[in-house]
Amino acid sequence: MAKYTGADCRLCRREGEKLFLKGDRCFSGKCALLKRPYAPGVHGQRRKKPTPYSIQLREKQKTKRIYGLMEKQFHMYYEMAEKMRGITGENMLVLLERRLDNVVYRMGIGVSRAQARQIVNHGHITVNGKRVNIPSYLVKVGDEIAVKENKREKTFFIELKESSFKNSLKWLEFDPKTLKGSIIALPCREDIDMNIAEHMIIELYSK
Ligand code: SF4
Repeated sequence: MAKYTGADCRLCRREGEKLFLKGDRCFSGKCALLKRPYAPGVHGQRRKKPTPYSIQLREKQKTKRIYGLMEKQFHMYYEMAEKMRGITGENMLVLLERRLDNVVYRMGIGVSRAQARQIVNHGHITVNGKRVNIPSYLVKVGDEIAVKENKREKTFFIELKESSFKNSLKWLEFDPKTLKGSIIALPCREDIDMNIAEHMIIELYSK
């Protein structure tokens, strides 16, 4: 699967807002967006009047970048959402939230979605007792997510056990002491606390 290999902070600067792609650094004074709050490149400081199309495009690019996806994969979620009952934009966001790498991030196992994806890729996570190393795996209600037993003595997970992190989400739970968690319910739009105008993405894709 193709992936973006450039600097993450450039993506935030392009979108003009924090996308929280680098864990703790995003909450510190080292955040590139605080130091250079304008788009990257030689023309980054030029002001251009946005068109309706460019606003929709930026919203789509921003969401895609938050979840660390490339265009083809991101568009697939739109196609899946369109076939589901309900509001396509909300369905799409719920599908994105149900990705295993996102769930691992939301549970606090990884500090960013990129790190969570690496944890999944390296086979450190089990779903209902079976190793799953596919970041796009869609979790279901009742799924038990855990750190694989023979990986729990790695320094990273020992430090996680000692942390006091507690996620505040209603739809999933995770206990750092046991390195186990579960999906209590599917997320709804109110649970997705990100500044995303999903209707703009749908408007763009349905042109
Ligand atoms: Fe974005 Fe985080 Fe980089 Fe700041 S530190 S620009 S929020 S990725």
